[in-house]
Amino acid sequence: MTIASTPGPSACNLFENVIGFFDRAAAHTRHDKGLLDQIRCCNVVHRIHFPLRMDDGQVRVLEAYRAQHSHHRLPVKGGLRFSPHLTQQTVMALAALMTFKCALVGVPFGGGKGGVRIDPRAHSPAELERLTRRYTSELFHKRMIAPSLDVPAPDYGTGEREMAWIVDTYRTLQPEDINHLACATGKPLALGGIPGRREATGLGVFFGVRECVSIESDMRGLGLEGGIEGKRVVIQGLGNVGGYAARAFAGAGAKLVGLAEIEGAIHAPGGLELEEVLAHRQRTGTLLGFAGATDLPDPSAALELDCDILVPAALQNQVRADNAARIAAPIIAEAANSPVTPEAEAVLQQRGVLIIPDLYLNAGGVTVSYFEWLKNLNHVSFGRMTRRYQRNIYRSLLEAVEHLHAAGGGDGGQRNALPAGDSPLPPAPPIADEKDLVLSALEETMSITSRQVHDRMKADHLPDLRTAAMVLAIDKIAQTYDYMGIFP
Ligand code: GLU
Repeated sequence: MTIASTPGPSACNLFENVIGFFDRAAAHTRHDKGLLDQIRCCNVVHRIHFPLRMDDGQVRVLEAYRAQHSHHRLPVKGGLRFSPHLTQQTVMALAALMTFKCALVGVPFGGGKGGVRIDPRAHSPAELERLTRRYTSELFHKRMIAPSLDVPAPDYGTGEREMAWIVDTYRTLQPEDINHLACATGKPLALGGIPGRREATGLGVFFGVRECVSIESDMRGLGLEGGIEGKRVVIQGLGNVGGYAARAFAGAGAKLVGLAEIEGAIHAPGGLELEEVLAHRQRTGTLLGFAGATDLPDPSAALELDCDILVPAALQNQVRADNAARIAAPIIAEAANSPVTPEAEAVLQQRGVLIIPDLYLNAGGVTVSYFEWLKNLNHVSFGRMTRRYQRNIYRSLLEAVEHLHAAGGGDGGQRNALPAGDSPLPPAPPIADEKDLVLSALEETMSITSRQVHDRMKADHLPDLRTAAMVLAIDKIAQTYDYMGIFP
């Protein structure tokens, strides 16, 4: 994953922000205080120190974490983050977000998050491998990694490679676990990964925004009717999330008017050609200097550009009290986790800015992680058992229709005869491959969740989508606790 920007001032306490959002929503529910306390608290935080032998022979002690926010469903699920700015509070906050996210999109997991406090760019691949394997074995010995207990995935600063090291380490420690591939998701395809996982979060962001923008009655108030096509979009962060979201927006006819990365941002009111921008960055190592665009050496200036949809897809705490008043976008789509602080949100809401919350908007990654986990437990890829059979069914169906079509009116107008026509029958639809199945299920999940959140907001007269999403998540988690027998 590309590191899009350094985090904002750590003065913003992410855990308090998430808890603040929770408490605000909880006030709109009727659950028992004790139950709400249980849903809110972080069940387990494991803090570890372990040594890393550097390539030059020296030893460095690293600090690492794994938080399991909620055990109401197992396994707990959430990414592994490598960042020099990582704190225990951040990991706990991100784990809590995972709990609510999973509940919202109907993924049957509790929330977790882990991380190692390092700058991955300052380490060689060999050092990264050693520390990832050591971290995995530390978790293993505390029973904090297993397909049924806790399943990490890529996050900021980690990717498929790290997941492969995790799986390989787990397998050596637990060789009798036939489901070992399911101990991490976001793996390379060759090691039990699933097609579509890489683009899942970014695509999910796009599907969620598209659904939101399709509600004409809401868009009228913002003067943004007419769907995604032609909408002016600014994206901060072109890593795994922002990059794929940018592609999807451009593919749907939106105009990318601003793009930001760690080294700076570029702006072109007429629109930027994404693939050309990416090729330019590949060639020169920077977004800056792209022909026809204006350079913004301070990447955070991109957040303030004139546009219809702002997509912060980098890190938390990007829109804060100090820049909220200058945000020009009427819609903010939270592709990153917690990019808008509560103080900023208050300022933006007063101005009628619509915030599509991270709570479900960036849940595409974990949704497809769920499919990957299922595939690993099933030990068979989606569609393998049915693809040929379906093709045969389609073929027979088509032959039957062709037969009736050829018979046309010549059979005396029987009810099941088709009128003979000159136009050929349309070709049979292609049989879905695994990626088609995964991405269509992702699209369905994001569309349904977006609608549910919107409908709940309207039905209960809730103040905003974030509150509605959190209320829905709390309700779903509370229902699970109802059956757990801990509140007799
Ligand atoms: N790190 C991603 C997230 O924050 C993915 C988590 C997962 O797939 O388990 O949603």
